[in-house]
Amino acid sequence: MSQLLHAIEEAKTIGISGHRRPDGDCVGACLGLYNYIKDVYPEKDVTVYLESIKEEYKFLRYSDTVNHSFTDQKELDLFVVLDCADIDRLGDYGVYLKKAKKVFCVDHHISNPGFGDFCIVEPEASSTCEILFEQFDYDKISKSCAEAIYMGIVHDTGVFKHTNTTRKTMHIAGDLIAKGLNTSHIIDDTFYRKSYAQNQILGRALIESIQLLDGKILFSIITKNMLKFYGVSGADLDGIIDQLRMTEGVECAILIYEIGLHKYKVSLRSNDYVNVSQIASGFGGGGHIRAAGCTMMGLPRDVINNLTLPIAKQMKDAGLIEASEI
Ligand code: 5GP
Ligand code: MN
Repeated sequence: MSQLLHAIEEAKTIGISGHRRPDGDCVGACLGLYNYIKDVYPEKDVTVYLESIKEEYKFLRYSDTVNHSFTDQKELDLFVVLDCADIDRLGDYGVYLKKAKKVFCVDHHISNPGFGDFCIVEPEASSTCEILFEQFDYDKISKSCAEAIYMGIVHDTGVFKHTNTTRKTMHIAGDLIAKGLNTSHIIDDTFYRKSYAQNQILGRALIESIQLLDGKILFSIITKNMLKFYGVSGADLDGIIDQLRMTEGVECAILIYEIGLHKYKVSLRSNDYVNVSQIASGFGGGGHIRAAGCTMMGLPRDVINNLTLPIAKQMKDAGLIEASEI
């Protein structure tokens, strides 16, 4: 039996949580584990604690039971933290972590220092969902559980195209498909479908993108006024950073969007050389080698300048640019 199932068997009350602004992997992991526990251990008292989740993820079974407040303040026997690189990224749900008798962390962020009583961090795994799958007993995975896990893998691999997609990832995806999933529905409806307003802001971000270092860096800035104008939120910006990254000649893409006065959420992506996790960690964030993020203060010009300096240094070390270009 896996370490996680052993911890679950020993607990009566279980909480499951993940990072703030939960993405597809985070929601898939939390609801995948919830479904598994509900199916296999119906006697357990289990709750998922997460910030609000996107409409497109709500086809997942039990998504309507997610607790979005942190009012019950339960003292849990076991608190499972999924896809969350550090305690700060749990936001308000950190209260459960402090009170829980046991904390079990499952994650794949290279920047995760490891926390909790049990901790499985596998940076080479495509997603937290991939690691979770291996903790489960395959024969006991229901179709509903498989849908959640598959969705998480699809999202963190950009539909099996990012460099984190391995032979193992594809084997696991195949095993999940064998549970009878409607994969094109999951891929189109949760990953590719965009609203009209989302497409408009994507277009605006691309039109206003700016090249640096001969186009090796491409950045775009989204202000609060722009979000208001198109009637969208930060959650509607998915996909923009990947389109910037895929532009010909780009090694590193930067998207910053305003979340407060002189406060910006930063998304970083790279193709082959730049370790963006290292860049983001330098500003208090983290993530993966080719996809990372952080929050920064200042004017947009300062934020971009502060980010491009260490990126340019890495590019020089990789031989992409001359020292004189920094
Ligand atoms: P995104 O650009 O899609 O928001 O995030 C890319 C990756 O970086 C994700 O794996 C995400 O968890 C991580 N990430 C984004 N923002 C932060 C942050 O502020 N702190 C940490 N530790 N990781 C972040
Ligand atoms: Mn993830």
